[in-house]
Amino acid sequence: MHGTGQTGDGNCTVDLLVVGSGAGAMTAALCAHDRGAETLLIEKDEQYGGSTAMSGGALWIPNNHLMAAAGVPDTHEEALDYLRRLTHGDVPEERLQAYVKHAPEMVKVLCETSRLRLQALPDYADYYPELPGGKPGARTIEPQNFDARTMGEEFLRMREPAPQTLISKRIAMTALQARTLLCRSPGWGKLMRNLMLGYWFDLGGRMKSKRDRNLALGNALIGMLRLSLMDRKVPLWLQTPARRLIVEEGRVTGVEAEKEGKTVRIRARKGVVLAAGGFESSDEMRRRYLPNPTRAAWTCGSPHNTGDGIRMGMEAGAALAFMEDAWWGPTTVVPGEARARMLVIEKSLPGSIFVNRRGERFVDEAAPYIDIVNTMYRKNTPAAPCVPAAMIFDALYRKKYPCGPFLQSSQQPDWMLPKALKQGYLYKDRTLAGLAAQMGIDPEGLQAAVNRVNGFAETGKDLDYGKGDSLYDRYYGDAGVQPNPCLAPIATPPFYGLEVQAGDLGTKGGLVTDASARVLDRSGAVIPGLYAVGNCSASVMGHTYPGAGSTIAPAMTFAYLAALDAVR
Ligand SMILES: Cc1cc2nc3c(=O)[nH]c(=O)nc-3n(C[C@H](O)[C@H](O)[C@H](O)COP(=O)(O)OP(=O)(O)OC[C@H]3O[C@@H](n4cnc5c(N)ncnc54)[C@H](O)[C@@H]3O)c2cc1C
Repeated sequence: MHGTGQTGDGNCTVDLLVVGSGAGAMTAALCAHDRGAETLLIEKDEQYGGSTAMSGGALWIPNNHLMAAAGVPDTHEEALDYLRRLTHGDVPEERLQAYVKHAPEMVKVLCETSRLRLQALPDYADYYPELPGGKPGARTIEPQNFDARTMGEEFLRMREPAPQTLISKRIAMTALQARTLLCRSPGWGKLMRNLMLGYWFDLGGRMKSKRDRNLALGNALIGMLRLSLMDRKVPLWLQTPARRLIVEEGRVTGVEAEKEGKTVRIRARKGVVLAAGGFESSDEMRRRYLPNPTRAAWTCGSPHNTGDGIRMGMEAGAALAFMEDAWWGPTTVVPGEARARMLVIEKSLPGSIFVNRRGERFVDEAAPYIDIVNTMYRKNTPAAPCVPAAMIFDALYRKKYPCGPFLQSSQQPDWMLPKALKQGYLYKDRTLAGLAAQMGIDPEGLQAAVNRVNGFAETGKDLDYGKGDSLYDRYYGDAGVQPNPCLAPIATPPFYGLEVQAGDLGTKGGLVTDASARVLDRSGAVIPGLYAVGNCSASVMGHTYPGAGSTIAPAMTFAYLAALDAVR
């Protein structure tokens, strides 16, 4: 890539230095460049894209420009009302206002000036759609498919999608397509055939790698942003971890980084944007800040997100907030896979439940994933451990739906599963009591929980936890199952079980910032020259998760605002 006026010793000076290469980092770099700033991104990993590339790529943008056409009207006031209720005063009003005002502006600007192309998800409900200001869909938008051939070889330096976002660990699908396929909506068979054929007939791609060049989700988002940076010749240095901030007379003036085994000093005239992710992959920081028990092996996030940005900001005197929190979600740790998988759709589909070691249900399994893990920790006691919990399902569920690493058994029967999954990962027994014994669960408790939920499946009303009551619960239900698309009897042997961990998509606590993403010190004063966005900053969402896309959209919005503030 094009250079940056590096001197012989590797040192250089730019206007804006961005640490990281997720969607927040790339948005900051693009917007700063388009305002005339000389910009550089540095990335620790040998691949760019971070957790963003592995993600669903969904963006939660209230009042966005695609909503009217999707038939869901929205206003600034409704969105603000919804966010205020969910954040309970934990987030300064000016940050909420900035988000609601500038998120729609940010995506519109990027769609007009860069390669970003988005589509509406008209039925993807907010996570609390019944709250005042909540919406039945369309605030969540996603990237359109993106043809990686436009990026040439640079495509292969992008972090791979998470396996859970692919069909058979290979074939990409958008969120719109995923819902059609997983919930077996009309046309799913034809769609599946077309995606398969598209993949196998991309002969040029198949000769180079197994990766699908018809990108979707987080890979599509990162592809669009990366190509936009390539169009502008904005450099991105891989394998260049930032180590510490350079602070001179109280102002952050650059970063000391490691490049090719040497320390380089990168000066930044207008500021440094930390976009280096959270601390989900640091066991040490998890133990110190998150509720215990906790393990880095339970996260789905990037292995390189070890809290470096947070640590560097702390050394410069920054204040911290929400460090005890994460973008929680129940995960399954699959043998042989590098990252845990989130159980999102599986937990809403009918015919499965989550139980504690006493065999008792403890939560609405179809609730927003953040609420599931918060409940796991809240109810985790020595008498009734919920961490880990267990997911229990029957042969009918297994036959109909993909789950974790398995395709539905109609396509991938048990005998076709790899040995590692059959031995010690997927538990299976002809009887519930036998399954409970294998998993260390109280058999009587489990039988009672199953009897009770089977009754609810008949009436359609979960009297204990309200599974399927919310519009959000039903988004990933099976519309063909009535009277409640999230409830079906667990009655057909054999019975199955998986361990469920208190996992996450990343952490959400970090450096405290203001409405322009400027980092604040412990007295509330701005640290000049320093910005933080994404999961190394304390989230604008506080302790909540308003809808799908509530992590990447704020990262991009505050990155946009950081660029506007730094380059004036
Ligand atoms: C499977 C999955 C699905 C998800 N789906 C969604 C979704 O649909 N919508 C949504 O909003 N969120 C989703 N998330 C969460 C979302 O991906 C993350 O919260 C978000 O991408 C974090 O953005 P970030 O910029 O903070 O971090 P990242 O995108 O992880 O970028 C941080 C980058 O900084 C680099 N870095 C770390 N330390 C240094 C250093 N010292 N020097 C230089 N570089 C450094 C890292 O290597 C990484 O590349 C999902 C996550 C996963 C794993």
